[in-house]
Amino acid sequence: MQVLVTGGAGYIGSVIVEELVRAGHTPVVYDALAKGHLKALAPEIPFVRGEVADADRLRTALLEYQIEAVIHMAGLIEVGLSVTNPDRFFETNVGGTISVLRAMIDVGVRKLVFSSTAALYGDPEQLPIAEDAPTQPTNPYGQSKLMAEQMMRWVAPAHGLTCTALRYFNAAGATERNGEMHDPETHLIPLVLKAAAEKRAIPIFGTDYPTADGTTVRDYVHVVDLAQAHLRALSREEPGLRIYNVGNGNGYSVRQVIEAAREVTGAELPIEEQPRRAGDQVATVASSERIRRELGWEPQHADLRDILGSAWRWMQSHPKGYEEA
Ligand code: UDP
Repeated sequence: MQVLVTGGAGYIGSVIVEELVRAGHTPVVYDALAKGHLKALAPEIPFVRGEVADADRLRTALLEYQIEAVIHMAGLIEVGLSVTNPDRFFETNVGGTISVLRAMIDVGVRKLVFSSTAALYGDPEQLPIAEDAPTQPTNPYGQSKLMAEQMMRWVAPAHGLTCTALRYFNAAGATERNGEMHDPETHLIPLVLKAAAEKRAIPIFGTDYPTADGTTVRDYVHVVDLAQAHLRALSREEPGLRIYNVGNGNGYSVRQVIEAAREVTGAELPIEEQPRRAGDQVATVASSERIRRELGWEPQHADLRDILGSAWRWMQSHPKGYEEA
C-alpha cells in the first residue's frame, strides 16, 4: 500500500516507516521538520516537506504518490507546553487534522490511522482503562486529540472514510536505527537514561500522588509494538471511526522505572524529589483487549527492561542523537 505518514520524521513516525517498509508497503513521509529529523529516514524514502495546515500541499502529495492511506502523526505533544499554550495545540492538532481530512476527501483517499493518546482519559475511575471509559482530559494536549477524534466520528461516516484512532499509552524504546530524541526532551525514559549516561540525578515530579509509592504510574509500550498496531489498523475496511487503546496493560511508577534503569545501565541514578508537573495524570494503564481481539495485535516486547535496554543501546550508539548519524 502507498501510505502517507504525516510526522513521519519524528520518533514514532520514523519507526512506523521502518515497519511499513519491512512489511512491503511504500511509505511517503510528509513532515515540516519542526521537530523531526531527516536523518531518521533511509535515503530512499520519498519525503515531502510541508505543514499539515497546508491542504493544497497535502492534496498534491496524495495525488503525486497515488496514496491509498494516511497515517496522521504530525502534531504537538508536550503536555506542559499545552498548559501554557493551549491555542497552539488546538490550532495544530485539531486544525491539522481537519486539513488532512479535507485533503483526503477532496482527492478520494479513504483510509486514515490517527495518533491519539491516553491523555484524553484524564484521571480514570478504574484501571485498566477501556476505550469506553469517560474522557476527561487534564490538559489541552489530551483535549486537542479528543476533539480531533470527535471530528472524525462525524466526518468518517459522512464521507465513507475508514478512520482508526490509536490511543497511545507511553511509547518508549528504540530500533537499531531510530530512537527518542526530542528537543526539549520531556519524557521520563529518555531523561532517565540521559541522567544515567551523564551520571546525574533524575528529578521526580511529584511524590505525593495517591499511588503505591507516591509517584505517577504509566503503561510503557515498545515503539515497535506501537508501530505494529498501525500496520494492523491499515487492514481495516469498515467505514466510520473505530478507537483502540495501545498499551501493554502493565503499570510502572516513576520510581520503578528509575529502579529498572539502574539495573539496565548499572548507573547509580540518585533522585531529586520535585513538585508535581502541571497537567500530569496520576495513573494510566491500558486495557488493550479490543485491539488484541479485533485486530490480532500482540505486543512482542512488553518487558520494561527490554524497552529500556533498546533505548539505552540506541542512546549509546547515537550519543549526539541524529547530529552525527
Ligand atoms: N517525570 C519525572 N521526571 C522527569 C520526567 C518525567 O518524574 O524527568 C514524570 C512526569 O511528571 C510524569 C511521568 O514521569 O508524571 C511520565 O512522564 P512522560 O512525560 O514520560 O509521559 P506523560 O506525562 O506524557 O504520560
